[in-house]
Amino acid sequence: MSAPLASLSGYRRIVIKIGSALLVDRASGLKKPWLDAICDDIAALRQKGVEVLVVSSGAIALGRTVLNLSPGALKLEESQAAAAVGQIALARHWSESLARSEIVAGQILLTLGDTEERRRYLNARATIKQLLSLGSVPIINENDTVATTEIRYGDNDRLAARVATMCGADLLILLSDIDGLYTAPPHLDPQAEFLPVIDEITPQIEAMAGGAASELSRGGMRTKIDAGKIATSAGCAMIITSGKPMNPLKGIDNGARHSWFAPSATPVTARKTWIAGQLQPAGTLVVDQGAETALRSGKSLLPAGVQDVSGQFHRGDTISVVGLSGREIARGLAGYDAEEARRIAGHKSREIEALLGYAGRAAMIHRDDLVMTETAGKTGGSNQRDEAHA
Ligand code: GLU
Repeated sequence: MSAPLASLSGYRRIVIKIGSALLVDRASGLKKPWLDAICDDIAALRQKGVEVLVVSSGAIALGRTVLNLSPGALKLEESQAAAAVGQIALARHWSESLARSEIVAGQILLTLGDTEERRRYLNARATIKQLLSLGSVPIINENDTVATTEIRYGDNDRLAARVATMCGADLLILLSDIDGLYTAPPHLDPQAEFLPVIDEITPQIEAMAGGAASELSRGGMRTKIDAGKIATSAGCAMIITSGKPMNPLKGIDNGARHSWFAPSATPVTARKTWIAGQLQPAGTLVVDQGAETALRSGKSLLPAGVQDVSGQFHRGDTISVVGLSGREIARGLAGYDAEEARRIAGHKSREIEALLGYAGRAAMIHRDDLVMTETAGKTGGSNQRDEAHA
């Protein structure tokens, strides 16, 4: 079992996600002293040879302050306008603050398609790697001015996890307004216990994440745990800690409270990481217990074990596989279009030719294109840090 490193400088490449509420004050706008302090932390890491990428929220929050928009939920076009105004200011502040340490910032604005379509994903990855090799710190956000509801990440927690896996980071840090994961939302349950080390994101751990989100931040604990699943399954550790104090990265090294999520001991290949991290699978297959057991032992998914097919997908699209309990257990690339999948579901592979009129492939999802997204779920979180060191 891996354990947290003694210092952040032990990591090679770190993605830091910063929530809007940390950077932007509703009344006064950008919190410049806080930004300068985190840029000092980033400069210190860079000096120790750690590559740093920042996923910065705050465009919409900053823009709405500048534009003096009324409090409460914004309409899509209002938040897009706010982002247009806020992002330009946000990027300038980052660039100026990092320049104090002679670090060059590079802005990257992503839309969902940039990580969900394989070709665009490879392209975005190449740009990010180039920026890093030139010694720049990428400042990344969702391209909120063009993203519409159907094609947006919507929260920067999962975007940051996608960025972390895309660039092969070994640590993702989510700076939040809460210092880590508790057994229950601490503001609702006084008995809630803090979890410093999470060895594996089991269904029990997922259940601990409440859904709450503040007005300035889109993601609650739920999206942070989703981010953790994406990151850890790709072999990237994750830390959740409070970004409220000044110099929160230095704070982690000095023992500030945080939850550390262990990277998977058997990370899947880069291609499977991409499959598992897809944010919007195009369809769902419900499989029986026999098929679920076969998948868990590394076999392909055959049509015989499929009980139900939903969604409109084409061969090669990512689809979700759920067990009879309704929980997702795997994801994979469809071997058939949805229509064909419906026709052959529940049938033996040798019947495929008669059903479709041609000899198709034997598997609904081939095992090379399949990745388990949920473990059988035996272990819970450990709240004994020492255990992880043992
Ligand atoms: N992309 C949004 C912004 O910059 C923030 C999304 C989030 O807070 O997760 O305003």
